[in-house]
Amino acid sequence: MQIRTKIAIQFTIIIAVILIIFSLAIYYTSENFRKQEFYNRLNDRAVLTAGLLKELKITEKDKKKLRDVNRTFLTKLNIEKVLMFNKKDELVYASYEADSILFSPDFLNQVRKQRYVETSDWENQVIGTMYTDDIKEPYVVVASASDTYGKEKLKNIRNTLIISFLIGIFLTVFLGIIFAGQSLKPIADINKEITNITAYNLKQKLNTGNNKDEIAQLAINFNQMLERLEKSFELQKSFVSNASHELRTPLAAIKSEIQIALENNRSIDEYKSILRSLLTDNQRLIQLTNGLLQLAKSENRDNSLVLKPTRIDELLFKAQEEVSSQNTEYNILIDFDDIPDDDEWVTVNGNEALLLTVFTNLIDNACKYSSEHQAEVKIRFNNKLCIVAVKDNGIGIPTSELSKIFEPFYRTQNASKFRGHGIGLSVCRRIIDMHQGKIEVQSEEGKGSVFEVTLPHL
Ligand code: ADP
Repeated sequence: MQIRTKIAIQFTIIIAVILIIFSLAIYYTSENFRKQEFYNRLNDRAVLTAGLLKELKITEKDKKKLRDVNRTFLTKLNIEKVLMFNKKDELVYASYEADSILFSPDFLNQVRKQRYVETSDWENQVIGTMYTDDIKEPYVVVASASDTYGKEKLKNIRNTLIISFLIGIFLTVFLGIIFAGQSLKPIADINKEITNITAYNLKQKLNTGNNKDEIAQLAINFNQMLERLEKSFELQKSFVSNASHELRTPLAAIKSEIQIALENNRSIDEYKSILRSLLTDNQRLIQLTNGLLQLAKSENRDNSLVLKPTRIDELLFKAQEEVSSQNTEYNILIDFDDIPDDDEWVTVNGNEALLLTVFTNLIDNACKYSSEHQAEVKIRFNNKLCIVAVKDNGIGIPTSELSKIFEPFYRTQNASKFRGHGIGLSVCRRIIDMHQGKIEVQSEEGKGSVFEVTLPHL
């Protein structure tokens, strides 16, 4: 079912319930008012008749006259009957002539007890009252009639209420559909616009209307999501082109080396030297693909990352060993500012393999980008954080490029003569992000750099 129809139905049900409650209230109030008013009229009629019959020793002729007066001067009530009884339950006056007049002695007794009684049967309303006005003997006067006029009026009110209810409901359905349609129109428009957006036109944005209401907010949020998607698509595209460019360079070098080697017959030593050069290129290729793999892994931020308590000091020693085993000329110094009182201060909840990648990268860079090939690693801590600083006295990083070095494939101008692909630091930053830590750099071109990794410890 469409939301528009749902809203119209809900709206109609609410209005119908309200209208029914109001109509019932109006109807029952009118009915009570009519009944009470008619009882009062019957009482007036009873008191008037009794007043006129005050003497009570009047003849049959007088009674007939009184009936005529009643009929002529008073508004005629339907099936009107006024009866008057003495204390022996004898009928002393009847407003109409009949062979036998039926009455209930019980009712007369009830009137004597309560002095005034109102009751009704299917058709008629009845009152019974005591008449004692300066007469010694109290009389019971019973008046009954049917309120045909009042009932007609009530019927009219009822019909008016039913018709108004039906018209009200019809209008509510009609207006409900129109208004719901109008309020949901911006959503329908957004739907239409969204169907036109594909992976190739993420630049297209939704109309944000008045920029104020909830629907505008939805469009604004959707546009922000499109922007994020667009950025990530662009990143993906540049990653693929950068990665293929990086792979193509060593592959092209290998190809031309093989071509040159095949051009002429060569000595065994020459072949050996060519093979060694091929091996170097091949190693570079392996390094690059490993870097790309790490980058892809670090992109995958799913919850499958296994975190366990990992000692940072031990990791640093492992990183030192790993880097120096590959480059024997590298000199790596590890230094503690303080000895921790508690082992937990140097233990973080982390993934050992990934954190090792971070520290080997930073140590390797520090040695690689300095002429003395030396890295100084300092570890310090406070009650919340464990901080590792990797310092070198190397080529440094130009201030204008400091913010870019964590982007994938970015390499500074002054680093072009050093081996590398610009992948390591972007991998480091992602890994540190995953561990809710941060990585910062301070550097001065020509003087050296300090990379600082801050991680929350246990
Ligand atoms: P790679 O070193 O393989 O090029 P990285 O991502 O590790 O890739 O580093 C990105 C860039 O940041 C490097 O190319 C270099 O320009 C700069 N850089 C990183 N570490 C240092 C450092 N210790 N000293 C100077 N420049 C650095």
